[in-house]
Amino acid sequence: MKGEQLGVSGQLSFEGMPERLFVCTPSKLGSYLDCPRRYRYTYVDRPAPPKGPPWAHNSLGASVHTALRNWFALPHDRRQPEALPSLLKSTWVREGYRDDEQERSAYRRALEWLESYVETLDPGNEPVGVERVVAVKTAVLAFNGRADRIDARGAELAIVDYKTGRTGLDSDDARGSQALALYAYAAERVFRRPCRRVELHHLPSGTVAAHDHTAESLARQLTRAEDTARDIVAAEKAVAGGASPDEAFPTQPGPICSWCDYRKTCPAGASAAVKDPWDGLTQVTTPSEQRA
Ligand code: SF4
Repeated sequence: MKGEQLGVSGQLSFEGMPERLFVCTPSKLGSYLDCPRRYRYTYVDRPAPPKGPPWAHNSLGASVHTALRNWFALPHDRRQPEALPSLLKSTWVREGYRDDEQERSAYRRALEWLESYVETLDPGNEPVGVERVVAVKTAVLAFNGRADRIDARGAELAIVDYKTGRTGLDSDDARGSQALALYAYAAERVFRRPCRRVELHHLPSGTVAAHDHTAESLARQLTRAEDTARDIVAAEKAVAGGASPDEAFPTQPGPICSWCDYRKTCPAGASAAVKDPWDGLTQVTTPSEQRA
């Protein structure tokens, strides 16, 4: 049909019509950067291929994140360490653990992380947002994402992201995180206040990795995100135009394959080392263990 073509996801677009914005979250963009094939399995193929079993480290991370969200939902005078066990219990995700003993041990560790962490919080400092969705549109993207926390730091804002993984993080991780930069870019526009500071709060070690962006470094991250979006749109259009989905979304094998939910579906996953659902927990330490 002259003047008509299949657009993203097979939708019909017309010559002269503006291209639809690519709707995305940080995890959608990150998924494609990690591995285009994994992106396809997650966001394109319908029905999606079956996923592997849930991971214990994801359950642990989700439990801690929700407990902290609910901590800030408490009135000021109830934000006491004694509130933490019931907050954590009520949001505890049980999936992926080897057995009850391992799960109990993970719960104790998570509680210790939380107790140490809330000691570092200034009770008089009310966040501007907790699990707050920020969204922004550019010429290419319609971005939205849920920031763990947005703090006021004087006249400016700071993005706080909680981490519960095995290894500590440094300022290079904070500087290089596309997700944090996009949150900052969006928060600056949503709240109409400068937001250049991004922080990774690693609860197991009690450390904070921070970076202060400039307008230029945020713009660079945004440009990269737009480039990724264009690559995804081009791959989706190629498939809609008859290209092989396997070629449009190639595999990108690496250490992440062992942790990939689609390892059993993907041809490249067969050669990856097999991990048990609780293997991501094995080196998780408490702050006291790290100081010892
Ligand atoms: S197993 Fe590896 S190559 Fe295959 S989709 Fe997952 S991350 Fe990509």
